[in-house]
Amino acid sequence: MKKKEITIISHSRNEMIDITAQVRRAVSDMSLLNGSITLYVPHTTAAVTINEHADPSVQQDIILALNRISPVLKEFRHLEGNSDSHLKSSLIGCSQEVIIENGNLFLGTWQGIFFCEFDGPRTRHLYIFCH
Ligand code: ZN
Repeated sequence: MKKKEITIISHSRNEMIDITAQVRRAVSDMSLLNGSITLYVPHTTAAVTINEHADPSVQQDIILALNRISPVLKEFRHLEGNSDSHLKSSLIGCSQEVIIENGNLFLGTWQGIFFCEFDGPRTRHLYIFCH
């Protein structure tokens, strides 16, 4: 199984980073024409999702809503102080599958692939596995 690693540098505590172009390049480098890829994030306070990448307000609104769903609570017991980040990671999820057709990502017109940072800024990694 072919595998490729992408490095991502985040700049905020919560941030959705459009990695569509990097994933497209990786698929091209791996010479995958038809099949699928699994995107996998090996972190407990980050995630990967597919959503609208036309209007940046959507990403801001998703983060705003996630902050409401998963606020910092004084009752949290985890000593690292980032339980809100761990919950956001589990809500969004650490993997996504994308279909590859004729060498292209099979995405809708408005869809992009986002690395979701929930405890930045940090240097992160995302793996792409070809099937
Ligand atoms: Zn933690």
